Amino acid sequence: MNNTNRRLSLPSAIGLAFLVAACGSGTTSTATSIATSSTASTPTRPSASTVAGTGTLTASCTAPAVATTAQTDGPYYKAGAPQVTTLVQSGMAGSRFTLTGYVLTTDCTPIANASVNIWQADATGTYDNTGYTLRGYVLTDASGHFAVETIVPGEYPGRTEHIHVKVTPPGGPTLTTQLYFPGVTANDSDGIYSPDLLLKITQSGNTEAAAFTFVLAT
Ligand code: FE
Repeated sequence: MNNTNRRLSLPSAIGLAFLVAACGSGTTSTATSIATSSTASTPTRPSASTVAGTGTLTASCTAPAVATTAQTDGPYYKAGAPQVTTLVQSGMAGSRFTLTGYVLTTDCTPIANASVNIWQADATGTYDNTGYTLRGYVLTDASGHFAVETIVPGEYPGRTEHIHVKVTPPGGPTLTTQLYFPGVTANDSDGIYSPDLLLKITQSGNTEAAAFTFVLAT
């Protein structure tokens, strides 16, 4: 299936219900000051959202936070990808968006200088296995925040739309996982897909972003 020209869809009603259920009782703060709490009795998942009218990403986290689910790196990982600010190249097909979020510990402490290493298929579902197109890493800032522009990947046989990620804090160890898009029909027939790894789609004007907060059990 070729999703070259589709736009990101807002979460479905089911997706929103999941997000609400997963958000816990943490409070919201600005991108440079993540709100934390240690009062939760059961592990929770951090949430991310944008401030209405500004597009500024915010995150909330209530300790203890649930460590992000690990998944296989699959057959297409390739070491040596460059540091990037964007994965989009001139003339590249596909729906552009900003992949953004945070890297935190299970006690909600931001992790600075963590590497967020991404590799993904292009809009037709094809990986670049000879070069580094749609492969690269960014580093988190002091608040644990990262952002990189990319495109919505196409599906390939057996797989729904997904983005592979390796998140490595200074000194390691590396979390390997995959991220998924809400509202994609093929999610339901993908044997690897996990709703725990759904991106949260946010919009501000014509700018689209997809957010995820990684929690590392360091
Ligand atoms: Fe893949």
